[in-house]
Amino acid sequence: MNLQSGTYYWPATFPDAPAYPALDEDLSCDVLIVGGGSSGAQCAYYLADARLNVMVIEKARIGSGSTSTNTALLQYSGEKMFTNLVHTFGEAYITRHLQLLKEAIDEIEVASTRVSIDCEFNRRDTLYSASCAEDVEKLRIEYEWLKRHQCELAFWDKEEIEAKYPFSREAAIYSCNDAEVNPFRLTHALFDNAAKKGIRIFENTEMNGHRHEEGRMIVSTKKGRSIRARYVIFAAGYEGMEIRKEKQASFVSTYTVTTNPVEDLSAWHNRTLLWETARPYLFLRTTRDNRVIIGGLDDNTNYPHDRDSKLVHKKDKLIEEFNHLFPDIHVKAEYYSAAFYGGTVDGLPLVGRYEEYPHCYFLFAFGDNGTVYSQLLSKLIAKEIAEGNSPDLALYLQERPLLNKD
Ligand SMILES: Cc1cc2nc3c(=O)[nH]c(=O)nc-3n(C[C@H](O)[C@H](O)[C@H](O)COP(=O)(O)OP(=O)(O)OC[C@H]3O[C@@H](n4cnc5c(N)ncnc54)[C@H](O)[C@@H]3O)c2cc1C
Repeated sequence: MNLQSGTYYWPATFPDAPAYPALDEDLSCDVLIVGGGSSGAQCAYYLADARLNVMVIEKARIGSGSTSTNTALLQYSGEKMFTNLVHTFGEAYITRHLQLLKEAIDEIEVASTRVSIDCEFNRRDTLYSASCAEDVEKLRIEYEWLKRHQCELAFWDKEEIEAKYPFSREAAIYSCNDAEVNPFRLTHALFDNAAKKGIRIFENTEMNGHRHEEGRMIVSTKKGRSIRARYVIFAAGYEGMEIRKEKQASFVSTYTVTTNPVEDLSAWHNRTLLWETARPYLFLRTTRDNRVIIGGLDDNTNYPHDRDSKLVHKKDKLIEEFNHLFPDIHVKAEYYSAAFYGGTVDGLPLVGRYEEYPHCYFLFAFGDNGTVYSQLLSKLIAKEIAEGNSPDLALYLQERPLLNKD
């Protein structure tokens, strides 16, 4: 799959990232992770202490997939409001989902302190603003639901917003306990940590076939090697859809810009994560070295040529949007990219378990909080493999209420 194009900021922050060999022999293991992006790394993190023989194969280099275009805002609120999710799944289901999301952000923070590579993790507050007057009421209802569920947040009116930011909105939820990270460094940090605990990692090793034989999955690689595994976790990101199509997932195209480092960000209250109720929405964050990341302007196309032909225009438009918000912060685009971006029909990420893939898990952490979803799902999958029991996994399997309706 032609996942993305353009220039990528995160890999430039870690030019001396660890390298791993290509697989050049046939091997067996308990668990094979296919995919060396952040999802594969999060699985490796959880499996590293499980006394299992674990291997990872990555067809190119670690972190070279969507992980390198990920803007890595770590939030519990997503594209579908919790109040909408409650309509689909019910109160108890979504209350548990919220709890697991908050825990997943906490777990990324804990993981970032246990590794020896700096992941640039920072706690951040979020301003989730109403893009138009009609959205104020639904934002208020969402706020009330979150408040009832012990989230630390406030509902701000126009005056409060204008007092803190150089732009105006009718209303916003100001929430605490979100975060940001450098996803490329996080991925390397988790793999480095797992490798030190004995997990074997292979780059430039592409799976090009698989079959089930005598209770084991036999995965073959493009260079003619084979791996015999008791369990396989397909953590191949959006390319997982090329291995096993999942009808509840689909793609759009999205665009991001990373600017030059900015000298003065004092106009940006608390360097909050910024997003809004419009769909598609504009979102913004800052980086460790004072750059601004601006993303959005999604386009419905899933043809790479179509996606890429709009890149320069979208880059200019993203800068223009930023200038409207922060007229006194002067930026220019230093890195910009176009990428496919996956979502699910009902707004929850998926773990695919299919009859024709016994003992396999497809980690489809699709959606705007993909990194948070991956952390959550990796933990649940690792728990089921290591302990044989992971009750919360049922919330995310492809057979769940809405998906069974047709
Ligand atoms: C532009 C953009 C912005 C985003 N912003 C956010 C955000 O702000 N917050 C957030 O939480 N999430 C965000 N996401 C989502 C997030 O990027 C993804 O959830 C996350 O990067 C997925 O990581 P992954 O490891 O699943 O996929 P990838 O990083 O794509 O990793 C999968 C890996 O599998 C490898 N692979 C594929 N096929 C094979 C094979 N056959 N054999 C061996 N290896 C294979 C690939 O080479 C790749 O390295 C964003 C996504 C995009 C595109």
